[in-house]
Amino acid sequence: MDLTFNDAETAFRDELREWLAANDPGEAPSDEDRNYAWRRDWQRRLAEDRWAAVHWPEEYGGRGATMTQSAIFFEELGKSGAPLPANVLGLLLGGPTLMMWGTDEQKERFLPGILSADEIWCQGFSEPEAGSDLASLKTKAVREGDEWVVNGQKVWTSGAQYSKWCMLVARTDTDAPKHKGLTYFLMDMDQEEIQVRPLRQITGESEFNELFIEGARIPDENVIGGEGNGWKVALTTLMNERAGLAFFLQVRLRQLLDELITEAAGRGLLDDDVVADKLGELHVKAEILRLTAYRGLTAIEKYGQPGPEGSLTKWMWSETNQQLTQLAADLLGPEALTAGTKWSYELLRARGNTIEGGTTEILKNIVAERVLGLPRAR
Ligand SMILES: Cc1cc2nc3c(=O)[nH]c(=O)nc-3n(C[C@H](O)[C@H](O)[C@H](O)COP(=O)(O)OP(=O)(O)OC[C@H]3O[C@@H](n4cnc5c(N)ncnc54)[C@H](O)[C@@H]3O)c2cc1C
Repeated sequence: MDLTFNDAETAFRDELREWLAANDPGEAPSDEDRNYAWRRDWQRRLAEDRWAAVHWPEEYGGRGATMTQSAIFFEELGKSGAPLPANVLGLLLGGPTLMMWGTDEQKERFLPGILSADEIWCQGFSEPEAGSDLASLKTKAVREGDEWVVNGQKVWTSGAQYSKWCMLVARTDTDAPKHKGLTYFLMDMDQEEIQVRPLRQITGESEFNELFIEGARIPDENVIGGEGNGWKVALTTLMNERAGLAFFLQVRLRQLLDELITEAAGRGLLDDDVVADKLGELHVKAEILRLTAYRGLTAIEKYGQPGPEGSLTKWMWSETNQQLTQLAADLLGPEALTAGTKWSYELLRARGNTIEGGTTEILKNIVAERVLGLPRAR
């Protein structure tokens, strides 16, 4: 593992720091819709100066950044306190999937709208009975002339209420084995046949939604990667899901821990051995997380492929974040449990961390099988 940046990486970091210092996104609005509009504006500003998708090739408006530069981007963004761009699923998942599987026409049509945040994307993968076992999904698409007619239900669709396009995986061949009968579509969300019903979360927000799809239409030209090839295309989307974000998340965890240490110090709690011990343990975990994220990066740069470290980092981050927010509640008492406060939000939002982007149990299976070489789970 090499933690020193080369000249190009240092120059990239310095230019970005300068840009972030000169472009303050301002205070985050508390209202959900206004907050989303604010993040959309923020993305427009990033895109104007080619910072919205640094990992995209220059020809598509990115900077052709290496994995390390991409990690630097998310780390610096996190440190500056700026938010993630609004179209994060389009930038991190949709764009790279299109670049790998899309036709030239599809790239030309869709990539600019993702970058500018004019067209927001959501991910329509999970269903009520298909989450961890995604390939058992039941939403069906049937060909009718040069269109597909879609019926089914999706759930947990983050940002669907703001989206123009949905990365939809649907079953197009019910006779084929479950991984083979799937096709990947781009579905226009602007249709009466799609009902978006927000799901109110424990935090009070509606980050995600249920989608009820009854006869929605998708033109054949919006199939990505060919009929029956949906599983492979979906894997590309999933593989991109955590690349880079790990750095943003570990920086945010570090910041939250520092805030908690300051709060504890202000109350004279650092002299309490038990409190100091718990904060010390979190400090060690935050450092392990940072170094594991860099180790994963080194592996990608050396071998060209993400290693199982991504699963390990996601598992460690989610459990450490839950531990941290729980400790905050223990130390700050009712103040951290009062609705509407920062710490109560962090405590409640952290519950979903061990589910989103792969549950902890699934990540443990991956580590057991692919890192430790244990027998496959049945
Ligand atoms: C905040 C948030 C945002 C999300 N956004 C999106 C989105 O935008 N688009 C989208 O498509 N999905 C999204 N999801 C859905 C997410 O991907 C799924 O919740 C996740 O994959 C788990 O699926 P499930 O909820 O159906 O649980 P299930 O798969 O039904 O799992 C239930 C329980 O069984 C365990 N389990 C399942 N299989 C195994 C196994 N083989 N071995 C051991 N244990 C197992 C799981 O770990 C879990 O504890 C989001 C989820 C959250 C929390």
